[in-house]
Amino acid sequence: MQPADFSSHLLAWYKGHKRPMPWRDELDPYKIWVSEIMLQQTRVDQATPYFRNFISLFPTVYDLAKADQQEVLKAWEGLGYYSRARNLHSAAKDLIENCGGKLPEKYDEIIKLKGIGPYTAAAITSIAFNKPNAVVDGNVIRVLTRYFGIEQDTRSSKTRNKVQEFANELIDEKQPGDFNQALMELGSIVCTPSNPDCTNCPVQPGCIASKMAKTDTIPYKSPAKKKPHHIIGVGILEREDGKLLIALRPEDAMLGGLWEFPGGKKKDEEKIQQTVERELKEELDVETKAFEEFMTLKHTYSHFSITLHAWFCKLISGTPKPKSSQEIRWVHRNELEQYPFPKANKVLTERLTKDN
Ligand code: SF4
Repeated sequence: MQPADFSSHLLAWYKGHKRPMPWRDELDPYKIWVSEIMLQQTRVDQATPYFRNFISLFPTVYDLAKADQQEVLKAWEGLGYYSRARNLHSAAKDLIENCGGKLPEKYDEIIKLKGIGPYTAAAITSIAFNKPNAVVDGNVIRVLTRYFGIEQDTRSSKTRNKVQEFANELIDEKQPGDFNQALMELGSIVCTPSNPDCTNCPVQPGCIASKMAKTDTIPYKSPAKKKPHHIIGVGILEREDGKLLIALRPEDAMLGGLWEFPGGKKKDEEKIQQTVERELKEELDVETKAFEEFMTLKHTYSHFSITLHAWFCKLISGTPKPKSSQEIRWVHRNELEQYPFPKANKVLTERLTKDN
């Protein structure tokens, strides 16, 4: 199959099979940008309601730029990878201040914006501005390694570069945005990780993995390293007036700009109550007593997992100070929902609000 045939078969299939998505066939570069940032690390079905809500809150780049960071993080709450929201917000301000509110059309310029890497730069410039920049994501890697019979480890950058080269050769210069979306769509609904539907695949006549019955072994990905697991103790410090203490995480830390109950990692020799009391001493400069377990939950992040133990605490002495956070606040349980929290802490706030 020649590149032109690959492209024409793929585009014809896409026309009849593309799934409706709120950002699909969108012409506004701002909305395409938001959708592409949300789709980094997030599935379409998860991103869809967030996209609709985000666009209703911030319909233009101007609305986003003038919003408070806390509003932006609140709209992102539960979607994870919060640096995406912080970078999007910061890049929107940058565009208003330096580019008249317009996204640059060129790959080399758009990639300079915060939060835009090679994949996102190629996706936005091809979809919004019709530039022939090929995208390579997990779906594209699966389709092209199978199509070209590439058996090397897809974790290696050498293999990814090879896939990028093939994608660059295949891309349809006249319809690059549709071509990129079609290839990703094919990977999502036809060339699936297990049991790909080769008989209904538009590029099957040229596919090596299908012909050689190797779709079970291509793509090959070497086993991932085991994620470390941490045990975390957090304190829910309650004042006599019923208000609870929450802390704003440092801007440059993981989950920066989100609120949390203070706490941290358990040391081997500690009991979990001791962890909570020590962490509150270190983070707030107060003596506390962890007197009752509230709840335990498990959560997995991209590079590690945690078991989080939350304890109710009372103040023994001292006045809390934000020693390792940007700010601390005392808030009523029914005010917690106004603040953006990361997922594990959100479970705690929802339970605390329900128990109110
Ligand atoms: Fe994937 Fe099968 Fe199509 Fe090859 S023929 S690209 S393995 S669905």
